[in-house]
Amino acid sequence: MLIAAARFLRKDNHLVKKFPFFPLLVTTTESINKTKPIMQKITVAKGDGIGPEIMDATLSILKAANARIEWDEIEIGEQLYLSGNTSGIDKKAWDKIVGNQVFLKAPITTPQGGGYKSLNVTMRKTLGLYANIRPCKSFHPFVATKHPEMDVVIIRENEEDLYAGIEHRQTEEVVQCLKLISRPGCEKIIRYAFEYARLYKRKKVSCFVKDNIMKMTDGLFHTIFKEIAVEYPDIETDNWIIDIGAARLADTPEMFDVIVTANLYGDVISDIAAQITGSVGLAGSANIGQKCAMFEAIHGSAPPIAGQNVANPSGLLRAAVMMLSHIGQQDVAEIVKNAWACTIEEGIHTADIYKENVSRQLVGTREFAQAVIARIDKQPSIIPVADYEKDVQLLLPVYARKTPAKKVLKGVDVFVDWKGGEVEELASSLQRLNNGIELTMITNRGVKVWPEGFNETFCTDHWRCRYEIPSERAAEKGYIPDLLRKAISENIDVIKTENLYEFDGVKGFSLGQGQ
Ligand code: NAD
Repeated sequence: MLIAAARFLRKDNHLVKKFPFFPLLVTTTESINKTKPIMQKITVAKGDGIGPEIMDATLSILKAANARIEWDEIEIGEQLYLSGNTSGIDKKAWDKIVGNQVFLKAPITTPQGGGYKSLNVTMRKTLGLYANIRPCKSFHPFVATKHPEMDVVIIRENEEDLYAGIEHRQTEEVVQCLKLISRPGCEKIIRYAFEYARLYKRKKVSCFVKDNIMKMTDGLFHTIFKEIAVEYPDIETDNWIIDIGAARLADTPEMFDVIVTANLYGDVISDIAAQITGSVGLAGSANIGQKCAMFEAIHGSAPPIAGQNVANPSGLLRAAVMMLSHIGQQDVAEIVKNAWACTIEEGIHTADIYKENVSRQLVGTREFAQAVIARIDKQPSIIPVADYEKDVQLLLPVYARKTPAKKVLKGVDVFVDWKGGEVEELASSLQRLNNGIELTMITNRGVKVWPEGFNETFCTDHWRCRYEIPSERAAEKGYIPDLLRKAISENIDVIKTENLYEFDGVKGFSLGQGQ
């Protein structure tokens, strides 16, 4: 698998030949070959749990294959968290990562609870690594799998969705997490998926969403998928509701080729996809942005097996192969991938993929690395020999902001903490706030409970109270502060508001369930 440097188009559609991660490589293929640098400086973090073992194994293989890299090692993760650094990373480490632009990272442990933010998510977002590429391929008959034909690449949006991590507790009973989906975010990842498919001669791109329920957020992702698909008539497309799509992926993965999806869905389905190829320990991933790139195994730090020399280093090693390809060392990437494939073919397996009738030798992490090193310059006989196209690039246009739509204020949703009895009681106190803006609906956890609610509906202490501005009245924001001032004087506990807008006459807010 090959991840190429991005090349960008200017707004006037002129190609800007730019190698953001590898500035010495410029202009034509010819000059790329001539100017190939001797060494690429990268940043390395050995991480937590099994991280140091699999990183040592990976680096020993890269060294033996004469990868033209040198590295700065940084400390991140559990020790920093536990020493009181709630972000798990310090400024020195950031400076190295940003300076070197290419980062090979072992898994880290995020301590549970205690307000620690996930460092992985922070790094992907801070560095603008918007595309997460996770190839999941079976190595039948050498690694036991129910899916011998599987060869799926999952392209996951990496910066937004519920992973914006914006959460609040607003009442005694209810907490919330904000799901943010943006047009630039969708366009960038969906275009990346189509360009990737075209570059690597993949036939189909499938979109996974849940827009039967989340019509605005997942609906936007799906709409943009359809818009962009038109520009790629050579690539087949389909769309799946995530639940049945994930079920099919687990059951019949050979029907998928490239899957593009939002952050949370991509996180979940790529672990499933990697696991059904044989082990979650086999898959590597690339996180690609305009300036920086980060390469890591898809699995975590596996604390229960740490320090025992049993972890499979293949996921991190395969991420390192993607890194070599990304920095223009496709020659070394081929050597490493072929040596790894020989080792797998010869049945030299770590415990996670060892099967009595399939494997020949059970080895530990270090011995697996030694076996790969012993096979450098050999080629596998059944697993396809790695043959990377040299100096290929992925074409990505810069995001062009759309002409703004006409935005008209139509009302406001006022969220209220109320622990009273009948909803009619709440409605009559809220109606006292009507002031050229009218209470039209109350919902509880999204379902309409007023007017004409059901006795059966269970209600929490978190109420959404919708006020709409009659269309003959001017759409002024002044109604809203007035309403809030009156709410305070009526002792109504307003916990937040959301303005309701129309964009070019199209409602920018959802109906209540049952409305
Ligand atoms: P995990 O991926 O660490 O482990 C899941 C299962 O897979 C375990 O049974 C483990 O033993 C096995 N496994 C994972 N990698 C393996 C390998 N290379 N070889 C053999 N077996 C392997 O997931 P988890 O237990 O949910 O998470 C443990 C920690 O890792 C948590 O603190 C979590 O936050 C962190 N995590 C980090 C990353 C990352 O750094 N990118 C990703 C996911 C989870």
